[in-house]
Amino acid sequence: MSGLQPSGELTIGNYCGGIRQFLQYQKEYDSFLFIPDMHTITVPQGDPHLIRERIRRFANLYLACGLDPDNCTFYIQSEVPATNQLTWILECNTYMGELSRMTQFKSKSEKQTNVGCGLFTYPILMAADIILYDSNVVPVGADQKQHVELARDIATRMNHKYGDLFVVPEPLIAKVGARIKDLQDPTKKMSKSSEDPMGSIFLLDSEADIKKKINRAVTDNDAYVAFDEEKKPGISNLITLYSALSGTPLQDAINHFEGMTRYGDFKKEVMEVIFETLRPVREKYEQLSHSDYVDEVLNKGRDRANAIANSKYDLVRKAVGFGR
Ligand code: ATP
Ligand code: MG
Repeated sequence: MSGLQPSGELTIGNYCGGIRQFLQYQKEYDSFLFIPDMHTITVPQGDPHLIRERIRRFANLYLACGLDPDNCTFYIQSEVPATNQLTWILECNTYMGELSRMTQFKSKSEKQTNVGCGLFTYPILMAADIILYDSNVVPVGADQKQHVELARDIATRMNHKYGDLFVVPEPLIAKVGARIKDLQDPTKKMSKSSEDPMGSIFLLDSEADIKKKINRAVTDNDAYVAFDEEKKPGISNLITLYSALSGTPLQDAINHFEGMTRYGDFKKEVMEVIFETLRPVREKYEQLSHSDYVDEVLNKGRDRANAIANSKYDLVRKAVGFGR
């Protein structure tokens, strides 16, 4: 089970921490990928048309990245109403103290004047997304580990209170690329909702834009390439990107680059690997975005997701004592 919210354009960070992992596991598991549109309005989004356009763009992009609709149930979160129904029950079984510890709430709420309650309760909606389908594993970037752990706690608590209702999920975090950093500020994570577009590489960026962004990526004045996340966060981030995208083990990538004195040459190799990764995605996306194929896939996904979600919700509703 995995999801990426349509709150900005997908970045190469989302690709490394989320999508890439998901693609690796989709054949092994009965897998679910959804577009969490309800999560996006936890922060102000402006024009609703933009959200709808983005949902479509995301859906086509996942297919372009290699999501296999024969192996995966692919759906839009808001098209499965049982998600909201379960969320309410989980809200009544989650403590304020637990939510107050969530670091994403702290960092996202700092950027706003009027903070919506939804930003605070967001992890409960995410728990519902996961446990409604008896998900065993949840491939996520390192930033989402805390939320998956909360989903585990909620599932365990519900099972104790109401009998064995849910599978307790595990986060699945990549060894390399689980926290790609912002290119302009390599002390913070790359985010699709960040204000500075120069800090992120978007999956649909042109090669000219990618080149510009990598060339301007913040490094240091040492004039030698080495991996040291504390002292050389910019360089280390680019080595990590290279390793994650090329599939070269991190240590091999470090050995390959270490000691280079010209950052320009080093950056050129990183750029090439990004080009190689994104070129086929862009081409496939072009084809898909001119067809209605995605609707066929999403309709099928919606129907399967609702069938599973409704039968699980029915069990939970009865266990809690709702209805006659
Ligand atoms: P937002 O700023 O709107 O929260 P985001 O870039 O954090 O956007 P999400 O939709 O919250 O994206 O997360 C989608 C997936 O991408 C999750 O699995 C998350 O852990 C992963 N992810 C997000 N940022 C990074 C990153 N910098 N490096 C690796 N994985 C990431
Ligand atoms: Mg996020």
